[in-house]
Amino acid sequence: MTIGSFFITASRALTTHPFSSSFLLLCTISGGGVVALSESQSEAERPNIENHEPRKKKVVVLGTGWAATSFLKGLDASLYDVQVVSPRNYFAFTPLLPSVTCGTVEARSIVEPVRNIIKKRKGEIKFWEAECVKIDAAGKKVFCLSNIENLVGSGEFSLDYDFLVVSVGAQVNTFNTPGVKENCHFLKDVEDAQKIRLSVIDCLEKAVLPSQSEEEQRSNLHFVIVGGGPTGVEFAAELHDFIQEDLTKLYPTVKDKVKITLIQSGDHILNMFDERISSFAEQKFTRDGIEVQTGCRVLSVNDKEITMKVKSTGEVCSVPHGLIVWSTGISTLPVIKNFMEEIGQTKRHVLATDEWLRVNGCEDVFAIGDCSSIKQRKIMDDVLDIFKAADKNNSGTLTVEEFKEVMDDIILRYPQVEYYLQKKHILDLRVLWNDADGNERKEIDIEGFKLALSVADSQVKTLPATAQVAAQQGAYLASCFNRNDELKEHPEGPRRFTESGHHRFLPFRYKHFGQFAPLGGEQAAAELPGDWVSIGHSTQWLWYSVYASKQVSWRTRYLVVSDWTRRFVFGRDSSRV
Ligand code: FAD
Ligand code: MG
Repeated sequence: MTIGSFFITASRALTTHPFSSSFLLLCTISGGGVVALSESQSEAERPNIENHEPRKKKVVVLGTGWAATSFLKGLDASLYDVQVVSPRNYFAFTPLLPSVTCGTVEARSIVEPVRNIIKKRKGEIKFWEAECVKIDAAGKKVFCLSNIENLVGSGEFSLDYDFLVVSVGAQVNTFNTPGVKENCHFLKDVEDAQKIRLSVIDCLEKAVLPSQSEEEQRSNLHFVIVGGGPTGVEFAAELHDFIQEDLTKLYPTVKDKVKITLIQSGDHILNMFDERISSFAEQKFTRDGIEVQTGCRVLSVNDKEITMKVKSTGEVCSVPHGLIVWSTGISTLPVIKNFMEEIGQTKRHVLATDEWLRVNGCEDVFAIGDCSSIKQRKIMDDVLDIFKAADKNNSGTLTVEEFKEVMDDIILRYPQVEYYLQKKHILDLRVLWNDADGNERKEIDIEGFKLALSVADSQVKTLPATAQVAAQQGAYLASCFNRNDELKEHPEGPRRFTESGHHRFLPFRYKHFGQFAPLGGEQAAAELPGDWVSIGHSTQWLWYSVYASKQVSWRTRYLVVSDWTRRFVFGRDSSRV
């Protein structure tokens, strides 16, 4: 906070809150650093005497990524006392991070200060730039540590909550491969992308120095990407374009010594996409001169070489590198691992929630985005209770009417049924009612009932760790928080089969809108809902329009579009700043 803005804030506070005047005066004398924190803590603790309203429930949100931002954007903050804790005071539009690595867009164009986002919300939201280091679910507290350098005091504080929303994301998975942490770049945050941009230019500047031998030049200009998922592939494509379109003109003496290698442990790159997309990408990369090495596992990395094993032959080889970008998926953050231990989720890799995004084993803690995964309940776990609830006359069999009556609730409660019906293109539920030969039954007993529904459990799916899932979860949870009181009396959720009554809310449902894979050279591939695949230059234009429209603010939308335009007109900037 600048001195000027501090005095404006202070004078506003003095005129509107006479109560706080002595307090602010004290803080002004004792040093500005602690002002924001101390003031808000006392405010949160102060009872609301003036209008006799009951105390608002405290909601603490951890993180400012996709899930948290979408939650905050949807939440009616006037209903709660909301506090946000994150080591980053901004939201980053991660799908454009690969473009930042080569300066196609600037880092500042893809971030939005979280304070800009929260100031537009109805009601007050407080933000603390700090990292949550421990979640104490039993004491309903989170312990935080500020990451601001040169802070007076320890920077430690704790916050009480009534509801906690955990949306801290995940960290890069190195699979404990020796040397990776020390010698590889990651591509997870804005800082990572900026570091890669500098290192790429460094490699070229180093290679053209008069002291470098040809062998050293080739090593310096060998760019290795580990991981053939969407991020690795997009980075490889960006780097190739940057080198071909901009750097070859600027570094003509070494342009033929540049090599890009993409290493993938599986048999194909982009293997989560449709086969047509992954084979198109492999062919395009081969044409572009990007070496794709599939079926290779990296054993270790040092500052000069990367050692890998070819899975099929068992052959081990080491190659020199100038820069490695490691992009092989994600793993759980230490704070979440400790929390999982505390609540007895020790056997799991990722924090489990129910279909309402509530952490299993914790009444008031919700988890959204990459840090959690929904543990989808199987119908077969509840099948006896469902049958009992459906069999109103206790005859031991169900009639068509009895069956139909429970089916609506089953479809709402167990999303796998809908996925199954969609996959099999079943429009009429009576198909499930028919026996194995397709004949209509008169009545169904428990065995027949089990048989009809067990097929749907095969469609229990884990949702991918994507921004799309995180954002939808954030929006869903916000709508539940907004209607919490309203739906207490009139629940909208399906009936409970194991107990009486209804669930208050409908369970979370993910809607897939498709996914993109930019492949460079103004070409992209897209997998759209309904098994649609689109590849080529027109898809790249679709990509531009979708990513422009998905920006969190008009400010970033303007910045991103102007960066793209600048790149078309002037090319990318190769200055090492
Ligand atoms: P994040 O967005 O990672 O946010 C986590 C937040 O928690 C951050 O603000 C972080 O600072 C904060 N935090 C971390 N630790 C703590 C702590 N201890 N206490 C408090 N706060 C903490 N997905 C797509 O759908 N489409 C794409 O095209 C796409 N491209 C991607 C490209 C790249 C390079 C990357 C890295 C990811 C991409 N993703 C994409 C995936 C997407 O970014 C993630 O799935 C998404 O960010 C998950 O959202 P989140 O809110 O769970 O986590
Ligand atoms: Mg009956």
